[in-house]
Amino acid sequence: MLTDLPDFALLQSEFQGDLVLPSDEGYEKSLKRWASTAQKKAGLVAFVKVEEDIIAILRFVRKNSLDLAVKCGGHSVSGASSSEGGVVIDLSRYFKTVTVDEKARVAHVGGGATWRDVDLATFPHGLASVAGTVSHTGVGGLILGGGYGYLAGEHGLVIDNLVGARVISADGEMHNCSEEENQDLFWAIRGGGGNFGIVTSFSLTIHPQIPQVFIADLHFPGEKVEEFSVAVKQWLELSTKKEMLFVFLEDRGTGPVRHVPGPLSLSIE
Ligand SMILES: Cc1cc2nc3c(=O)[nH]c(=O)nc-3n(C[C@H](O)[C@H](O)[C@H](O)COP(=O)(O)OP(=O)(O)OC[C@H]3O[C@@H](n4cnc5c(N)ncnc54)[C@H](O)[C@@H]3O)c2cc1C
Repeated sequence: MLTDLPDFALLQSEFQGDLVLPSDEGYEKSLKRWASTAQKKAGLVAFVKVEEDIIAILRFVRKNSLDLAVKCGGHSVSGASSSEGGVVIDLSRYFKTVTVDEKARVAHVGGGATWRDVDLATFPHGLASVAGTVSHTGVGGLILGGGYGYLAGEHGLVIDNLVGARVISADGEMHNCSEEENQDLFWAIRGGGGNFGIVTSFSLTIHPQIPQVFIADLHFPGEKVEEFSVAVKQWLELSTKKEMLFVFLEDRGTGPVRHVPGPLSLSIE
């Protein structure tokens, strides 16, 4: 039991967020991940509220040589944000504040937010971030892995729009990083995943965005793949940076072609 370990009582007394143990109500819910295969039975789930909570957990984990995982949106399919028997620092409950500096066109995004939180904050200003293609992924894993979204054709990957971050390293030290400060850490977090520290805040460049966009979902059977490739090549030559195309290849076996509801759903037989 982690509760029997040295310093657990100290951790409990100073922790400002919520500590969830296997015997607590809400424990099973705290283990939920986008992929059920990524769920593991943590010994302790720490919903951190302030940066000091993260530093306290890191001290406890170091002292007792425990396994540690960090969770934002929980969309890792490998289980990287889960721990079997160890400690999970979960940022998704309290580190989800987004503030918009309209003049500087920068959004300061909590390390536990989802892209929905970002969209809801930037949209009223007529601004948008590159973001991901769905609203329920976490900003944490997506940004640290590079990140592509519908605006990537025009503005690059999400990390191309990252202008700064606050990172707590494993020794419990806080670092601000950007092109001006701690440049090596700033380089590492832009694509290096969650290996270099716990990011409590990301600062992202945001861009003017009209409120209406056109989106179409087109489905083609496998035998159309050559024709489709030619059409895509022609489209690429004519398209502007404001347009984006995602191609998904799915093996549907001999089953029927799926029609996804949406503004336009077309199946060419
Ligand atoms: C349905 C779905 C749609 C997707 N769509 C896109 C897409 O459009 N574009 C795209 O680029 N990717 C997409 N992905 C991939 C997605 O970006 C990755 O799975 C990403 O890791 C998810 O981030 P998360 O915060 O939700 O996951 P989590 O499981 O919470 O975290 C993933 C990893 O990041 C680490 N991490 C998370 N937050 C922090 C933090 N604040 N500080 C330090 N480490 C942290 C975790 O420890 C873990 O190692 C999609 C995935 C799914 C399942």
